[in-house]
Amino acid sequence: MAKSIFQRIIDRELPAKIAYEDDLCLAIHDINPQAPVHMLIFPRKPLARIADAGKDDQALLGHLLLTAARVAQAVGLDESGFRLVINSGRDAGESVPHLHVHLLGQRRLGWPPG
Ligand code: AMP
Repeated sequence: MAKSIFQRIIDRELPAKIAYEDDLCLAIHDINPQAPVHMLIFPRKPLARIADAGKDDQALLGHLLLTAARVAQAVGLDESGFRLVINSGRDAGESVPHLHVHLLGQRRLGWPPG
């Protein structure tokens, strides 16, 4: 299977603004931001989407969420708030088949989402 864009960023084949990385995941700035802060947190493990995750991925999924919250704090969103989004599949608008958490903030976000 062809490498996803995010796998190519992990492998340093594509440039990205990397805000954070550790042994399990990376946080980068979205190339097409939908809010003043729009970052993506994704695992090094090439899981296509949350719907494909299994019991073995439980700790990894927890790590992604905690990392997203820490990154949000690091960019000063803890007071104002932020939103985490995971798109899974066609109806959700998933466009990159490599699991990622969107971190959005620094503006009022509408609800329900579009
Ligand atoms: P989704 O639609 O949930 O799969 O989200 C994919 C996200 O990846 C979109 O917000 C894109 O703007 C973003 N994106 C695509 N290519 C890149 C890239 N090379 N660097 C950073 N973000 C990207």
